[in-house]
Formats: sequence, structure tokens, C-alpha cells
Amino acid sequence: MIKVLIVEDEPAYVEALEVALGRDGFDVHTAADGRTGVARFEALQPDVVLLDLMLPGLQGLDVLRLIREHGTTPVIVVSAKNQEADVVTALELGADDYVTKPYSARELVARIRAAARRSSPTSSGQSGLRQIGDVVLDASRYELRSGSELFPLPRKEFALLEILMSQPGQIATRASLLEEVWGYEWQESKSLDQHIRRLRRKLEHAATGPQITTVRGVGYRLDLPDDGEGRITNS
Ligand code: CA
Repeated sequence: MIKVLIVEDEPAYVEALEVALGRDGFDVHTAADGRTGVARFEALQPDVVLLDLMLPGLQGLDVLRLIREHGTTPVIVVSAKNQEADVVTALELGADDYVTKPYSARELVARIRAAARRSSPTSSGQSGLRQIGDVVLDASRYELRSGSELFPLPRKEFALLEILMSQPGQIATRASLLEEVWGYEWQESKSLDQHIRRLRRKLEHAATGPQITTVRGVGYRLDLPDDGEGRITNS
């Protein structure tokens, strides 16, 4: 079980992450300020740390410095939009990845999993790959292999396809996709359709891959290739 320490002072973010990470089987611990974060880190020895940079008391960058004195535990820093300079400093100090608020819990779960996998070679293997037919989604590289083509996926396309491939044949509603992928950001849903359209074009390169079906008025569903007859169902 992957042990995650969330150092974050905003309850809304902590609660959303606890739900998303708990649902995905992570062992979640939290700290609401920098000093508690350092203490929990030393006591728990987590596999991954999610670290907000703007904290009461001891600042995120100082927490990161102290964590780095203990070794190479993956740290994903969370910044506000106006903190680019701090992100650069954090990466120089050895942070592994960063996200900017507002972020989606689903995207973050994928990143935490990828960070944990990178740091523990024994648990690597196939766990970061989802494969359906000749479509392969690689979570450690944010890449989609579709037939003989390789596409680096933008984050939101990756998150969308990850959700759909995790539940083939099941409908994902527009509301749930918007909430999970766009999180707090979404205002209008047109960009969901645009992202689906782009994914469909990429999936068309696979001869025996799945296709994304529109369920009118409801959402989207990933349909498996009709391998019984070897028929290709994309148009
Ligand atoms: Ca904060």
C-alpha cells in the first residue's frame, strides 16, 4: 500500500484528496502546517509527499529542504498560479513534480502513483500500463501508444482516457468527467467534447483498439474492440 503524506492547510483540498486517494487504495496521512509536516514525515516515512508551498509557519520550501536532508522520497509540490519562482526553486531543491492550483484530484492521483513507482523499482513492472487491444496508456510517461503511433498526452487528455480505460463498457457521465478532470476550474463543458475529439483521432490509429462512444445527453463510454470477428469498429 502506498503511503502518502499530504502537507496542506486548505481543508477543501485535503478532503478531496483524502476521498480520491482513499478510494484508490492509498494509505493517506495529513498535516496542516509545515512543522507538523516535518514531524509526520519523520515518524511515518511515507512513499510520496504532496507538499503545498504556501503553509502557515514553516514554509513549503523549508519543509522540502528538511525532507531532502533525509533522502530522496518523491515530493510533489503544489503551488498557486503566481508562484512560478517558488516552483523553480522547489525543483532545484529536488522536488520531483509540481501541480498548480486548482488541480483535479484524479490527475494528482495518477501523478502520485507515477512518483511512487519511479521511486520503488521493485513495484514497477506493468502496473503503470493500461492496455486494450493495441492501445496502451503509459501512466509513468503520460504516453499513448495507438497501433504504431506514439502520442505524448496533454494532462487532461491523459486523465480522461485513464478514467475511461479504467472502466471499459461503463458510462462516465459528463458531470463526473468534468469534476474529476477539470476539478474546480470548469465553467463550461465544451472543452470536454474537444478533448474527446482529439482522443478519438489518436485512438483511430489502432486497428484493434477501443473506441469512445457518445451516450447522448449522458456522457461517454469506452467500447472494446469487437475481437470476436476481428472487425474494426472505428469509422
Ligand atoms: Ca496553502
